[in-house]
Amino acid sequence: MALVKTMDMLAACERGKYAVGAFNLNSLDQAPFLIKRAEQLKAPLLLVEPGVIEKYMSFEDFASVAARAAAKASIPVGIHLSHGLDLEQTERAAKAGFTSVMYDGSKLPYEENVRTTKIAVEIGRKYGCAVEGELGALGSSFANVSESMTDPALAKDFVARTGVDILAVAIGNAHGFYKGTPSLDFKRLEEIRYALMPYNCYLTLHGGTGIPENHIKRSIEMGIVKVCIYTEMCHEGKKDTVAYLNAHPEYTGNYDIPEMLAACMGGFARSMESCMNMFMCIGKADSDIAALPYTPKTFAPTAMKSAAAPIAASPASDIPPNTDIGPAYPSLPAENKNFKATGRFWDKNV
Ligand SMILES: [Zn+2]
Repeated sequence: MALVKTMDMLAACERGKYAVGAFNLNSLDQAPFLIKRAEQLKAPLLLVEPGVIEKYMSFEDFASVAARAAAKASIPVGIHLSHGLDLEQTERAAKAGFTSVMYDGSKLPYEENVRTTKIAVEIGRKYGCAVEGELGALGSSFANVSESMTDPALAKDFVARTGVDILAVAIGNAHGFYKGTPSLDFKRLEEIRYALMPYNCYLTLHGGTGIPENHIKRSIEMGIVKVCIYTEMCHEGKKDTVAYLNAHPEYTGNYDIPEMLAACMGGFARSMESCMNMFMCIGKADSDIAALPYTPKTFAPTAMKSAAAPIAASPASDIPPNTDIGPAYPSLPAENKNFKATGRFWDKNV
């Protein structure tokens, strides 16, 4: 199983009617820890670099550690960049060996989002990794709705013109904690899914924390194959860290840091498990997803790059290029032979 193409993983989700959890990481040691727990649950896993932590760890280090841990795992594991800040950062991740990258142009005017996302897709094709784009805008922390919802007709135009493999949709979801109980716009999701059926493009839901379980499951039934989680994991990790420290008042200076970190990781893992339950992916790891070849070799340390640093020639990645990820570029309207309309999405009473 091991390291797999993100597109293969999402295709398995589509076939099995479940979603993979895309969990943001904060540190390198989190990768083997979460993989171990996911192995126990027999669930596929998408390890996510949320983009903003590149200043703490290079993409090469992240990909190297994650891929090495994935190579030994009994479950399918992908490595994903979320919310790539710009095209340069997106390319750094693609070059480092991520199996998928997100370029987030959702805050740009529509035509500029199309233009830059199309370039991101070309970058992805060059390095053989899948590319995610976003249309519509998610609200930030403490919002209770998306800032602007994804327009189904525009989604079709966006996918047709950019060739993105994965589309992040705004259907009432938002990042951070919600003010009240969020309610997803299923009619909109249905219309988006229907509009995109001719394309080999998967749908992803960001801002998974706090969305009611029945809404998460309904969205998966309607075509969501990847759900992003971060806030809840942070919350649970912090809770367990504080509980650990409170339980050990004798530590006035010399904390047992490994134990404290393990407590934090325990919170992460518990949160991941409850999300995986909602995503209906537990026990779904034994699919027939092909493993990517991986040959560990000496990894030369490189200087840390800041997010603003220009792209520099990097040492050869120890992960082979990920080719043949799915659709030809641009995505062909699948008038193509593999396309089968099942009626699954639009016959529901939404
Ligand atoms: Zn997000």
